[in-house]
Amino acid sequence: MAETKTHEGGCHCGRVRYRIESSLTQVIECNCSICAKRGTLWTFVKPAQFTMLKGDDTLADYQFGKKVIHHLFCESCGIGSFSRGVAPNGEDTYAINVRCLDGVDIPALKIRPFDGKSL
Ligand SMILES: [Zn+2]
Repeated sequence: MAETKTHEGGCHCGRVRYRIESSLTQVIECNCSICAKRGTLWTFVKPAQFTMLKGDDTLADYQFGKKVIHHLFCESCGIGSFSRGVAPNGEDTYAINVRCLDGVDIPALKIRPFDGKSL
């Protein structure tokens, strides 16, 4: 099993910063209407593995469809570095945009396609 590591990430301008605990073994590329346009790669963590470092007050919220997920983005630079929602099992979940984590070797990740378009 891959080891859990601490990763920091955030938006482009640096106003939004957070820290997560993750092994990054589950990374998905979703084909739904918003992910296809944003090119986001996601990994999911529970609230206990997510720490907001700064920028809570600079986050804008975008919702569509069933409005289950808060597609948060920095109101200064526009980057959506993470989203927040409730998983099908009812637990609060943070969806982390792996592309926004510092120093992650994206081509080295095993990326699993997810058919969000069909949901
Ligand atoms: Zn920003």
